[in-house]
Amino acid sequence: MNVPHTARINIAIDGPAGAGKSTVARMVASSLQYIYVDTGAMYRAVTFKALEAGLSTEDNELVGRLAKELDITLLPGTDAQRVLVNGEDVSSRLRTLDINRSVSYIARLETVRYRMAELQRQMALSKGVVMDGRDIGTHVLPDAELKIFLTATPRERATRRYLELGPDAGISLNQLEQEIKERDRLDEEREIAPLLRAPDARLIDSTGRTVDEVAEEIVQWGIAVARTILAEEK
Ligand code: C5P
Repeated sequence: MNVPHTARINIAIDGPAGAGKSTVARMVASSLQYIYVDTGAMYRAVTFKALEAGLSTEDNELVGRLAKELDITLLPGTDAQRVLVNGEDVSSRLRTLDINRSVSYIARLETVRYRMAELQRQMALSKGVVMDGRDIGTHVLPDAELKIFLTATPRERATRRYLELGPDAGISLNQLEQEIKERDRLDEEREIAPLLRAPDARLIDSTGRTVDEVAEEIVQWGIAVARTILAEEK
């Protein structure tokens, strides 16, 4: 969909693991011809490299130094965003159970959060960005013109992940639900930029709703906000 006669805005989509943020954000970006930025993939890329280098997930200094030296590039892909780290495509290696289990520890490190937020703000400078994560509306882009907090029940989120991974992944639905709850807890309780709904974020519960419905709702809000801004600028 081409959206003429509107201002370009930034859209922040935050929420817990498995709420459907990345699929919805990608669809919204494609409808509005905006750029999609998956910030979770950036934390996953740092985690991948930290594990590969044998670093402790608690080591603020060493992991921070590693994060600062990494060249992380996000490229649009057909299914998901492609992630290049120092020129190497690591996209297919970022969603393993090992990374799922470590990423929320790496994401607690102050040095890593500082570096990721800096990169994310640079990506959003020229507007027209749909960025999904945990702290985008509260911390990274507090001035985003449209903020969404997308959630769903833990059971529904675990079921989606279970269907995505398939029965051969060797993890039960109950185990997945426990891991998702644990990741929520770590993300909500961390000191720096925790997972939190910004007071001005619109809440969407995606339980029982399709991604198309949710994406369309956000696109319509985005168009309305962008039109209002354009009208005010005139
Ligand atoms: O969105 P995704 O599940 O890929 O994110 C992986 C992890 O990265 C989250 O569980 C969270 O710990 C961390 N994260 C974060 N802040 C963001 C995006 C992701 O702390 N903006």
